[in-house]
Amino acid sequence: MPPRNRFAELLPEITAWRRDFHENPELMFEVHRTAAKVADLLRGFGCDEVVEGIGRTGVVGVIKGRSDSAGRVIGLRADMDALPIIEQTGLPYASKTPGKMHACGHDGHTAMLLGAAKYLAETRNFDGTAVVIFQPAEEGGGGGREMVRDGLMERFGIQEVYGMHNMPGIPLGSFAIRPGAIMAAADQFDITVTGKGGHAAKPHDCIDTTLVAAHIIVAAQSIASRTVDPLKQVVVSICTVQTDSTAHNVIPQVVKLKGTVRTMDSGVQDQVETRLRALVEATALAFGASADLAYQRGYPVTVNAEPQTDHAIAVAQAVSGRVDPATPPLMGAEDFSYMLNERPGAYIFLGNGDTAMVHHPAYNFDDNAIPFGASWYAGMVETRMPAA
Ligand SMILES: [Zn+2]
Ligand SMILES: [Zn+2]
Repeated sequence: MPPRNRFAELLPEITAWRRDFHENPELMFEVHRTAAKVADLLRGFGCDEVVEGIGRTGVVGVIKGRSDSAGRVIGLRADMDALPIIEQTGLPYASKTPGKMHACGHDGHTAMLLGAAKYLAETRNFDGTAVVIFQPAEEGGGGGREMVRDGLMERFGIQEVYGMHNMPGIPLGSFAIRPGAIMAAADQFDITVTGKGGHAAKPHDCIDTTLVAAHIIVAAQSIASRTVDPLKQVVVSICTVQTDSTAHNVIPQVVKLKGTVRTMDSGVQDQVETRLRALVEATALAFGASADLAYQRGYPVTVNAEPQTDHAIAVAQAVSGRVDPATPPLMGAEDFSYMLNERPGAYIFLGNGDTAMVHHPAYNFDDNAIPFGASWYAGMVETRMPAA
């Protein structure tokens, strides 16, 4: 039976898992109930191995195919964590925990990958090994990074890795993907300018930190316009300016600036950090002040490898016949990037139809997307490692 038909049969069961996860959202690495349920289900499916506690609360299931002639191993990944949002869907299975909500559809991702695992464990119609990866803390905690640091790739011999995210605004059951960068790197920085505070009527006795900060803010905009290749994407935003003076007549001793950098290319990311540091330090020096830049790297760029993207497109085409192979990249960030930095693979969007956007209190994952997503996961295994 083709996977699509089997997933139509399994839809009520997978939907029940999804709604149970939805009702019981957990944040960051604290996905204890979700991870325990995932592990129990995987054991019930007859997975050859189920390992808990990878990347603190991540779960991995291993499913061996009918044959293994070439030692091929493919990883499929879903995320399990929710968001600190007060749900406003009014659904009968809405969050039972006020202030926690599955507002990014990770309940749907986890349920779809469980469905694929159940199907793969009962059919085993492939030559090699499928590794299903359930990660915690996608929403800012770096759960993907923690699983990689825990030896995920080496321990299970993963050679390629695939991930999926639902996306409102894309028609239900349609897929969207692109080769190369599909999600941005998101970094943040803190600048501290130190001068000499004093009486605003005696500026010659002070080193005016607000003036220095203003020059730094203006100079930082030259990074996008004059440092980075105009054909490459970059955002440098300074979002907070804080002085230690609240008076009309006191020049502050210290000014703090905070901002974010978004890039689509690690070379540009390095260029921005280096240039920003030089501008901050040299601008302060020019005015007799000093300044310090604390630059924190966030999630790296999510980069789809070309051959793996082509396979992802072919499988999506077979599943629904509706694939946008050149969707524009998003300036948001995704920690599946840590897995794609370790192994070639691809990250694809699955349409959630005309719903509220992810991270909105009225958002809900559409259960009618389940057969498409689960078929895609299973299809990646069956077509990348066809049974002999
Ligand atoms: Zn999210
Ligand atoms: Zn998400």
